[in-house]
Amino acid sequence: MRIEYEDSLVKIAGLLGGEEYIKVARALLNNEDSTDEEIASATGLKINTVRRVLYDLFGRSLISGIRVRDLKRGWYVYRWRAQREQVDGFIEMQKRKLIEKLRQRLAYEEQHEFYHCNNPNCTKKTFEQAIESFFKCTTCGALLNRVNNEDLIKLLRWKINHIQSES
Ligand SMILES: [Zn+2]
Repeated sequence: MRIEYEDSLVKIAGLLGGEEYIKVARALLNNEDSTDEEIASATGLKINTVRRVLYDLFGRSLISGIRVRDLKRGWYVYRWRAQREQVDGFIEMQKRKLIEKLRQRLAYEEQHEFYHCNNPNCTKKTFEQAIESFFKCTTCGALLNRVNNEDLIKLLRWKINHIQSES
């Protein structure tokens, strides 16, 4: 359970901002309730970089910050902690969004016939568009051919099933 959770936050961090985010997320998980400075020294990142990442994660509710008094120096610092439920929720939401997008694309591919001139710089046309231009590409003027999108449809179906079956 613990390992899954760690993977999730680190994975999200990587999606949001790459290496710096991953380092901060790992440092935070290794040492719950760390301060900006503690994370900076654990990761070797600049304090400003660490703060930028932390504020971003905080803004997305993936971590929480508790304001506490630094007893040695007398000023206030934040202690940061990952938010477990938020991390799980974030992943679920991302998954749902992605599946929704893939479903829309799948429906679009299934419901339309597509035509293309085989020129890689030109976009695909729908059947309706192809008729309007008498089966000539409106960009380059070449003849439009029917596009076989069966492989794409299969790939989209596979992707949707794959994401849904992930734990
Ligand atoms: Zn063309």
